[in-house]
Amino acid sequence: MTIRSSRLLKITPKMALKPRFFDIGVNLTDSMFHGKYRDKHYHDKDLPDVLLRANYNNVDRILITGSSLKESGKVLDIIDEYKSCYEEFKARLSQYKEVKDEDSLKPYCTIGVHPCSVKEFSKDPAGHIDQLRDLIRKGLDKGVVKAFGEIGLDYDRLYHASKSDQCKYFELQLKLACEFDLPLFLHMRAACDDFITIIKPFLEGTRPDGLKLRNTTGVIHSFTGSVEELEKLEKLGLDFSVNGCSLKTEENLEVVKRIPLSKLHLETDAPWCEIKKSSACFSLIASEPSTETQQKPSNNSKKPLKRYHPLLPIRMVNSDKLSKFQNEDPSELPPVVKSRNEPCFMPIIAQVMAKLLEIPEEEIIQTTYENSCKLFKVD
Ligand SMILES: [Zn+2]
Repeated sequence: MTIRSSRLLKITPKMALKPRFFDIGVNLTDSMFHGKYRDKHYHDKDLPDVLLRANYNNVDRILITGSSLKESGKVLDIIDEYKSCYEEFKARLSQYKEVKDEDSLKPYCTIGVHPCSVKEFSKDPAGHIDQLRDLIRKGLDKGVVKAFGEIGLDYDRLYHASKSDQCKYFELQLKLACEFDLPLFLHMRAACDDFITIIKPFLEGTRPDGLKLRNTTGVIHSFTGSVEELEKLEKLGLDFSVNGCSLKTEENLEVVKRIPLSKLHLETDAPWCEIKKSSACFSLIASEPSTETQQKPSNNSKKPLKRYHPLLPIRMVNSDKLSKFQNEDPSELPPVVKSRNEPCFMPIIAQVMAKLLEIPEEEIIQTTYENSCKLFKVD
């Protein structure tokens, strides 16, 4: 296999334990994984390749985000499909590395309605909650639903739903959450005070109607808040997860440094929130100038130019070129799509956090993996 060496993959033999990653935020229902970018269709669905690259890079647990009733249903279908094709998946992966069943990728999911999608409740809120409850029960029967969410508030995107609608349906979904023993998968953007006002009585059992969450654990994913917000939310006993969006500015870096290690989780939020060259954290991890990632085309000029991702030794192509690679000889891992984030980039998030916290990479990897397994009750 013609994969170049890199600091990122060299960590493997040095580590006492194998690096294992649990990407707790992956949006696999997004149209980009099915070849559609905005309104343009560029390639066939490449979701199996995305999972293959993830598992190749030691991501062996993922939590797929359910963001609406419809999307949550699709998430269950994606997991069913993966399980039914598992033998084929394993055979493909074994072309690139030795595969043991214990290292295989295990997908889990959340079910809930994102604050930007809460308008879907408006026609028949009670009926919609009933359907959501049925879907959670179905997912629990399958053993794959590990969190309620993503739910919360997003005041940066009020064009999707007004503040009052977001608050109303956040509260309504928290009432439903009280029926289950599931941790919460939470979204909070620019809405900290209202978020706390709504959720705190559910966590502490101080609501006039006496409702209390059976499971008072949870994680605020893709955390981009301020130090003050972090301190306020920490008092609720909640955990925090970080991705490329949490590492964009110098201020972000100052905040994430203060998340206690015992409350830290890692995620990609793929296909969104990738680490860009403009991200404040990029200089912490870039080991080579990006010009070196370009390789000269071979004598055969018809062959597509080989490019590699600036931070991982994986080939990279533009979305409109991926189809050329979809039926090629499988001697190399299929390429990633430029600017589309994927779970295979988890080692980069870990590397940034290790640099920021000034602790060994293996400590970050091990601790966050254990934190996530414990929170979501996954082996
Ligand atoms: Zn979110």
